[in-house]
This record gives sequence, structure tokens and C-alpha cells, in this order.
Amino acid sequence: MYDLVIVGAGPAGSTAGRYAARRGLKVLLLDRRKEIGVPIQCGEYVARDDEVRAIFPSLDGLGDLMEAPRRVRQIDTDVIRIWSPGGRHWDIPFRGYTVRRDEMDQGIADQATTEGAELQTETTVYRVRGSDVSTNHGTVSGTVIIGADGPSSSVARSIGLPLPVVGPAMSCTIDGDFSSVTDLFFGNLAPGGYAWIIPKGPCANVGLGTWQHFRGRLDTLFYKFLDQRGLPHSRGTGGYVPVEGPVSRTVKGNVLLVGDAAGHVMATNGGGINVSMICGRIAGEAAADHVLQRVPLETYETTWRAAVGPPLDRGRRIKRFADRFFGNDRLLEIAMAFLGARRMARAIRCQPLFVGI
Ligand SMILES: Cc1cc2nc3c(=O)[nH]c(=O)nc-3n(C[C@H](O)[C@H](O)[C@H](O)COP(=O)(O)OP(=O)(O)OC[C@H]3O[C@@H](n4cnc5c(N)ncnc54)[C@H](O)[C@@H]3O)c2cc1C
Repeated sequence: MYDLVIVGAGPAGSTAGRYAARRGLKVLLLDRRKEIGVPIQCGEYVARDDEVRAIFPSLDGLGDLMEAPRRVRQIDTDVIRIWSPGGRHWDIPFRGYTVRRDEMDQGIADQATTEGAELQTETTVYRVRGSDVSTNHGTVSGTVIIGADGPSSSVARSIGLPLPVVGPAMSCTIDGDFSSVTDLFFGNLAPGGYAWIIPKGPCANVGLGTWQHFRGRLDTLFYKFLDQRGLPHSRGTGGYVPVEGPVSRTVKGNVLLVGDAAGHVMATNGGGINVSMICGRIAGEAAADHVLQRVPLETYETTWRAAVGPPLDRGRRIKRFADRFFGNDRLLEIAMAFLGARRMARAIRCQPLFVGI
């Protein structure tokens, strides 16, 4: 019997494990992957702490939260260049850095095990019932269960919590000389989302994400984008990104959801690494408070909503507003010119654009 069983050793689950184990909980971290963080399904872009504090002003300090990503930092990128369908562009100052995502995930999992958590890979969780977690290696039990198993969470499905609304995305790494600017391309080349070229020093992460209404073949769009940019074809890896922000409920009985499983992603930019780690820490602390001091688990929901909820909800509203223009390049061109650099910068940071949005 464990105090805490965590399903999924991505940034959310491993961070929860790190902080719960630090408080002395007996923690088991399960992941179906053979090697944590492999394959990479990510643009590998992380926002710097000062940007994160500007986006989430109610957050308490970040402390040592982002140590592992910083350790595998590749380059700083201080400008996001936003391209319209017609080729106009706006430069938005935004401080971020790129990482080796596989090494980042492994680094956070190592932090969790260093604090005392037990990590079991190649373990697929099928369902959760009460304190029992059924896996391909038998059943384990935990007083508290955390579902950090991504956007199609088996944990959420098995206990009847809502799943986030998702859109597909894929990316690859391409060698070459790229500037330090992060390029985002909008329009029907990636309907409802954007294509990206994110510099990583001697290479770039090149990818594309779209919305929940997309019904075609993502790889066709992806290779078309590579051709348009004159980039060589490289095999992409993909996944799903929550595109409408958090789900309506993240606690049920002894189960908490965190990270992509809870929709902890900024809808206006698709970034989930920072938010999943912030909420992972809150989930780990909430589990510890519950086991050690009998604090009700429901405090998890109120704590993460107080810390990051309003900007994430605003991100959803801004994204829904933008969705009216996606799918029609002519309209989108006009809307982007109207918004201009100042309002686009606010949109990226999930800050209010107009009254009510
Ligand atoms: C193509 C793409 C590009 C992206 N680019 C960026 C970016 O540049 N910057 C950014 O901030 N965000 C980006 N994101 C979003 C970001 O990757 C996620 O928000 C982040 O990974 C969320 O972390 P997580 O721990 O919640 O989930 P994940 O990282 O998905 O981890 C979930 C873990 O659970 C495991 N798992 C799943 N199901 C089970 C099961 N049944 N049993 C056991 N284990 C299970 C998986 O193996 C995985 O290790 C991108 C997403 C995609 C798909």
C-alpha cells in the first residue's frame, strides 16, 4: 500500500512525485514508456520564470520548480515572430528557452526518485477503482491516486471525470543554421492552430498543431509546411494538445488529475510544460497535506484554480474568439492586422484583449 500512486511520469506526474516524496510520502510513479520522455512529442519550448510570473500573477514563488528544464536548456529565444497567412509578421518580445525534452522529463523523474519516490516503467495502467490501480503487472494500491497520464487519461475515463478537448500536433528536429527567433505561422496551413520553427542551436524543432475540428491527415499538412519552408523531410512524432484549457472538475474521491489530463495548457499558445509543473507541485503538496494532516483533497482544485485558473480561462475565451477567424485566411489576415503586435502579445500571455475577452 502506497500513500500516493501517480499514473504518468511526464512533467506533471514526476513533479507531483518529487514534492510529495520530499514531504515523506511513500510514492509510486508508473509509466507505460520503456524510457521516460521517449519519443519526444513536443516543440521543446519553455517560458522563462519572469514570463510565467507575468502570466500568472497570483502564483507564489517558483522556487526550485524549474531546475531540471534549466539544466537541459539549449538556447534562449527572446522574440516570437508571428506570421500572417499573407506573409506579414510582427515581433513579440517574449522570453523563453529551448530544451532537450527527453532529458528534461528524465531529469524531473530523477528528482522524484532522489526525493524517495519509486519509479516503475513499462507499466500500463488500465483502470482505477477506489484505491486499486490495475496495471499489466498486477494491481497496486494507493491512499491517493494522481492521474497525470496525458490528454486521453485512462484514470479520468475510468472514474468518470471529463477529458480535455484536444487537437492533433506533430513535430520533428531538423539540423541547420537557424536564428534565435521563434517563428509561428498562422493560417490554413495549420487551421485553428499554427506551425512553428523553434530554434535549438544547431537545429530547430519544426512542427504544426491544429484544432479539434481538424479531420484530415496531419502529416500531409506537416510535409506541405516543410516543403513551403524549403526544409528537408524528417519523420515527425505527434500527439494531442488540450486546446480549450482546463476540464470542469479535477478531483473525485481519492483521485486528482493534473497536467494534460486536467487540460492544464494555455489555449492561446499550446504551452503545457510550465503549467503542468506548477500544478504538479500543487497536486503533490495536496496529496501530502491529505495523508499527513487530513486536509480534504478538494483543496487541490481550489488551490490550482487560484494560482493559474483565471489566465487559463481567459486563454480559452481568447482562443474561442480567434476560432471565428481561423479557417478563412482573408478574414484572419484582417483580424491579425487589427490586433497588431500589442494585442497579440497580450493574447500569447492570456491577458485581456477587449472588455469581456
Ligand atoms: C507535438 C506537441 C508539441 C508541444 N510543444 C510544446 C512546447 O513547445 N512547449 C510546451 O510548454 N508544451 C508543449 N506541448 C504540450 C506539452 O507537451 C504537454 O502539455 C506536457 O507534456 C504535459 O505534461 P504531462 O505530464 O501532463 O503529460 P505527458 O508529458 O503527456 O506525460 C504523460 C505520461 O503518462 C504516460 N501514460 C499515459 N497513459 C498511461 C497509462 N495508461 N499508463 C501508464 N502511463 C501512461 C505517458 O507515457 C507519459 O509519459 C506540446 C505537445 C505536443 C503534442
